[in-house]
Formats: sequence, structure tokens, C-alpha cells
Amino acid sequence: MQRRTKIVATLGPSTDDPAILRDVIESGLDVARFNFSHGNQDEQKERLLSLRSVAADCGRVVGVIGDLQGPKIRIRRFENSSVILAKGDAFFLDPSLDEFEGNIDGVGVAYEDLHADVHPGDILLLNDGQMTLSVDRIEGTRVHTTVVIGGVLSDHKGINREGGGLSAPALTDKDRSDIVFAAEMGMDYIAVSFVRSAEDVNEARRLVEKAGGKGKIIAKIERVEALDCIDEIIAASDAIMVARGDLGVEMGYAELTGMQKSIIRRTRYMNKVVITATQMMESMILSPIPTRAEVSDVANAVMDGTDAVMLSAETAVGQYPVAVVNAMSDVCVGAEKHLLARGRTSHRLDDRFREVDEAIAMAVMYTANHLNVKAIIALTESGSTTLWMSRIRSDIPIYAFTPHDETGRRVTLYRGVYPVSFTIESTSSRHLYREIFATLLSHKLVEEGDRVIFTKGDLDGVSGSTNSMQIVEVKTSI
Ligand code: PGA
Ligand code: MN
Repeated sequence: MQRRTKIVATLGPSTDDPAILRDVIESGLDVARFNFSHGNQDEQKERLLSLRSVAADCGRVVGVIGDLQGPKIRIRRFENSSVILAKGDAFFLDPSLDEFEGNIDGVGVAYEDLHADVHPGDILLLNDGQMTLSVDRIEGTRVHTTVVIGGVLSDHKGINREGGGLSAPALTDKDRSDIVFAAEMGMDYIAVSFVRSAEDVNEARRLVEKAGGKGKIIAKIERVEALDCIDEIIAASDAIMVARGDLGVEMGYAELTGMQKSIIRRTRYMNKVVITATQMMESMILSPIPTRAEVSDVANAVMDGTDAVMLSAETAVGQYPVAVVNAMSDVCVGAEKHLLARGRTSHRLDDRFREVDEAIAMAVMYTANHLNVKAIIALTESGSTTLWMSRIRSDIPIYAFTPHDETGRRVTLYRGVYPVSFTIESTSSRHLYREIFATLLSHKLVEEGDRVIFTKGDLDGVSGSTNSMQIVEVKTSI
């Protein structure tokens, strides 16, 4: 069975060896994530060029996400790189302290307005919620706290406020420079961290366009504020990431799973793409096999309808970057087998469609799900027809036949959609069928006699013009 759920993996030191990268790609990597929180642009550039050359060698299309660091608020550094804090200790945070001035009494913070955003009684979470501080009082720029849960606190750890509300703008100067870099490098998606509103997404899109980029925008949902305007954010974005790391810290983990399910449902309903991220296979950073809880987590995200599942440290710095991609891939396929595939979806059944190509996409999927069809072939410029198709649950593969490499890379994120490079050489429909059938047969995607549905527009080269569907039987000679 062909896996439909896509795998996003973060590249890093553990995947830098070209032989390992090759194994990761051949094990099923669909989209590579470049995390701008680590490494500089020169390192990312080298990594991207290596990805492109290895993917080309294996004949695989791999999409690329540039993930902006965003305004993650972090402490500065300690004189001796870390301190040990115990419950009941007094500890202060102060933006006016310099880089290495931290010690057992307090530490600097790389966020000038911290003292303005917090109030006595607030709970501050350090290091992804592993340690907590309770705010006692504020004196000038200094925030005095008492340690509630202690532990080892080391340089540059992140800070969140329980319930959200540290209001740094979503795009930092570093993010703006990384957007220009990502545009120059032709990255396919730009992920915006700590989005608060649709305006943050719109601003990122304007910056990408201004830099001449064609990247689509992924909004990372990791702030409580974003949940209050989730529909506007989804509408403004091309894709959503359920960024469970920071979101779980801010909202608390008890209701995170329910929130994941509702974000996935809402995003798919609004015809957008969704990625489920963070700690999916966390134990495989150090272990060659996943825990049963991790297996269930990945399988549940697949059953929730996520387009893609994501690996972070597991592949970037983990000890088993190839094994973890294989394990994740197997779990996705296993979960997909248990889904009710055909004829059970009522996606947007009560809605009116605004675009002709959306109507065609819906008609195709209902037909395919109720007729014996082996594959769907969409001749597509921008990939949007295949996006609409893939919002409908199905077990039938959707092949995006496109002459554009960037469209091929974009659809790598869509569940159940697979890119095929294809240039229309002729305007006669007989020749067109002959070329399509030859391509399908040479890639062993179907066999002679299989029934397929294919869609196209009258206007080749014009996106959004899909206006017909045809049901045909594959023949070797016509
Ligand atoms: P990060 O985002 O890995 O960039 O922090 C994902 C998350 O917070 O879950
Ligand atoms: Mn995050």
C-alpha cells in the first residue's frame, strides 16, 4: 500500500552525511524542514544544495520548508553555563542584564518588555515547561520570582507565560532576513512561528513576495492568542502547523489533544493543509524503536486527518534518523489501513462552491470513491485542483501531472497527492491520452485495463482553469 500521509523531517547535523540523507529520502521523506532557530544561512544553504543534489540522484521530489525562528523569548547566558534551582529559591529575570551575567540569583532575558507583560501571580515556564517560576513583584526592569518547580537551567532556554500573553511581534529582524534568504533559495514553504493573528501571516506573505519568493505560508499555531482567531489565521494561510511544543506549554497539555483534533478538522474543512508537529517520535532521538505511546500518537494524527506528520530533533540531531523515518512511515500506513476510506465523507456537502475547478475536484472524488477507479490524474499548473481533491478522504492516489517543478514540490505536503513531471506535447486528445498512459505505465502506477479519472482545463498553462473530468480505461495503444 502506498502511504498517503506525508512525512516532514527536520534536517540537521545527523542528516548531513550524504549517504544518510540518501537513506532518509529513500525511506520516504516527502518534505525537508530547515529550522532557522539553529545554524546560520551559510550552513542552511549548504544543506539545501546537498538535499537537492541527493534527491535528484534518487529521482525523488522533496519539498522544502524554511521555518522561521520567530520571537521565541529566551534567557541570556550564565557565568558558568547553567545553575541549579530548587523549589522555594528566589530567582529574577531582567532584560537589562548582559549576555554572561547570569548566576544563581538571576539571569538576563532577550526581550526588552518582559517586565511590562508580566504581573505578580503569573506563572513563567522555562525550558518547554520543565521548570516553573511564580512572579512575586516587579522592580524597574527586574522580575522577581520564586521557583515552583526547580531543576537545571542552562543558557538560552525559552520562556513562556502560562495562558500566553508575552506579546512580542511575530516577525523579528532575523526572520525578515531569513525570509529574503528563503526566497533566494527557492524554498517552497515559509513557516511563521508564534503567529498571533491573520495580519502576521499577511505580513509574512508580503515580505516573501517582495523578496521575489514563491513560497507558500505555513502558520504555526503555538500561542494561546492564535486560538481566539483561528479561522482568520487559517483563511490567511496556505497551511497550518499544530506546533504542540510551545502550544502545549502555553495552554497546558491536558487539552492539547482535543485542540489538535479541532484544528485539523477546521483546517481541512477550510480547504487548507495541516501538519502535526513535535515530539511525535521523541524517544527515537536515543532509541532505535518508538514507544507504544508514540506509535499511537502518530496513528491518531493520521486518523484525525492530518496531511503530514513531522520530525524535529529525531532526524536533526537524533541517533537514528533513518530508522525513525521508516518507523513513522510504517505507522502511517498501518493507521491508513484502518480508516474508513470510500464513500463515507461528507466534506462540504452542504456548501456552495465558488470556483469551477473546486466543483470539478469534488465531483471527481465522489465519483472515484463510488466507482472502481485506480487513480486520479490531474493536469495542473498550480496544484490547487489536487489540493481540493485531497480534502476528501479517499484511498485512491491523486497524481499531480505538472510541467512545473515548484508545483511538484508544493504538492509533496498534500495527503494522497503525488507529483509526476509531465509536459503536454500535443493538443490532440488522442495524443494526450497516449502520453499520459505511457507515463503512468512507465512509472508502474497503473496497469493496462485499469480505470482512471483525469481532469484538465481547456487552457494549458493557465492555473485555475480545470473544467472537465473524464473517466477512461488505460490502454497501451490508442
Ligand atoms: P519549534 O516549533 O520546533 O520551532 O519550537 C514547533 C513547536 O513549538 O511545536
Ligand atoms: Mn515552537
